[in-house]
Amino acid sequence: MATSRAPKGLYVGTCPICHKHQYRTRQDARRVGRSLYPGHVLRAYRCGEYWHFGHIPQDVRRGERPAP
Ligand SMILES: [Zn+2]
Repeated sequence: MATSRAPKGLYVGTCPICHKHQYRTRQDARRVGRSLYPGHVLRAYRCGEYWHFGHIPQDVRRGERPAP
């Protein structure tokens, strides 16, 4: 039980729109993202009533367009 690095219990379900894991707050999404992908550049973003995390798209990181 103690082997997983992902904080369990923060995940609240699967998004019906994009099928990603849903978290209740931006903080929860960021926390899980950091534990799963240490050292990666991640962002938390809202989708419907919940939050997801994801890698920042290359064009956003280059400054070619603002993050949504
Ligand atoms: Zn979604």
